Amino acid sequence: MKTLLVLVAGLACTAAVHDRILEVDSFQGYQVFRAYPRNDQDLEFINSLESHGVYDFWTDLRRGKPVDIMVPPAAQKTFIKHMTAKEIEHEVMIPDIQELINLEKVQSRVAYNTSAGHDMTWTEYHPLEDMYSYLDYLEATYDFVTTQSIGETYEGRDMRIARVCRGICGEKPAVWIDGGIHAREWVSPASVTWMLNELVENDAEHPDLTQNLDWYFLPSHNPDGYAYSQSKDRLWRKTRSEHGSIFGCKGVDANRNWGFHWNEGGSSNDKCSDTYHGPEAFSEVENRNVRDFILTVKDKLVFYNTIHSYSQFILLPWSYTSELPDNYDDMEQLALMGRDAMVANGGQEYEVGCIPCILYVASGGSLDWVLGVAEVQYSFAMELRDTGRYGFLLPPDQIIPTARETWDFHINVIREIFDRLP
Ligand SMILES: [Zn+2]
Repeated sequence: MKTLLVLVAGLACTAAVHDRILEVDSFQGYQVFRAYPRNDQDLEFINSLESHGVYDFWTDLRRGKPVDIMVPPAAQKTFIKHMTAKEIEHEVMIPDIQELINLEKVQSRVAYNTSAGHDMTWTEYHPLEDMYSYLDYLEATYDFVTTQSIGETYEGRDMRIARVCRGICGEKPAVWIDGGIHAREWVSPASVTWMLNELVENDAEHPDLTQNLDWYFLPSHNPDGYAYSQSKDRLWRKTRSEHGSIFGCKGVDANRNWGFHWNEGGSSNDKCSDTYHGPEAFSEVENRNVRDFILTVKDKLVFYNTIHSYSQFILLPWSYTSELPDNYDDMEQLALMGRDAMVANGGQEYEVGCIPCILYVASGGSLDWVLGVAEVQYSFAMELRDTGRYGFLLPPDQIIPTARETWDFHINVIREIFDRLP
């Protein structure tokens, strides 16, 4: 594994002429292939393709798992040739990306329900402004909800959180949930705001949750990237900051930029790469904003979850190493319990991610910093629906079922953590 990582690091240094330097107006003919690596040689080969700058990896490489790769029309023949030469089994998962994007747009053209007092519906994907209108509505309607900007993004957008506290925030054990650190994972902010809606507006159904705990929700960890994914490039992942790329590539993978064992593998030095870790830890203002807020509440935080898509995984630290944290068994047991509860309630199957099974480390992730520095004992990351049929382009009619199962995970795990508190 060591040799492999050295090799990976070496490749990452090669400046790649990334296909997405140019804005992509249309994904017509772009396809997502699923490849089935059988062994470390196959994984090594597939990983080397990332440095070509042509292929967009939709899922991380994991031992024993298939990997989804978006391939532009001009590169499809070469890709198939590579896979065939190495005898790596592969298939087309999504035959035309643009077709799914169009479908998403059509389904999203539903009239807003203005009588609700806000613009959120959860039957379509909304811009950030609509999510913020929902935060305003909650603050105006419920005396136990307040909102706060924890700082501005690179492009000057507010990063707003909702605080759900009966009484003064900061006196009870607290829970943090964030979404959208990766811009294109649209079901994440949608699910985070839906869970906020469920917690607050259905409070009477589960009053213990707000009586026993304070809750902090950050719908979008990466508002600039999200806006860009809505207006320009549906498959944009990173932030939108400038770091002097000679190819004009922008942005940092904000989930490779956190300052705990930063740049120790599984991230790229190439400014055009989708996993570029940034020039230094916490180079991204969005990460500094979240870090600084978490540091003010960390002594009360008992649970952290950062929501991604897709693959249906519940992931546990560490990300930077295959060694296990001291409380790993405890975390795994809780995650399995939460997963079983969501499945029992009609949710989809989610796999609890055993870090030693994951071949490629991914250093600089938020969950590592939250456990390692902020010392929040239960630090999770989740990859929501689906398993690849639609990938990031999950149809809007799956938002509510996805959010509901995610909520089931949360309430079961959080209640159990609360019961265990001294
Ligand atoms: Zn993600």
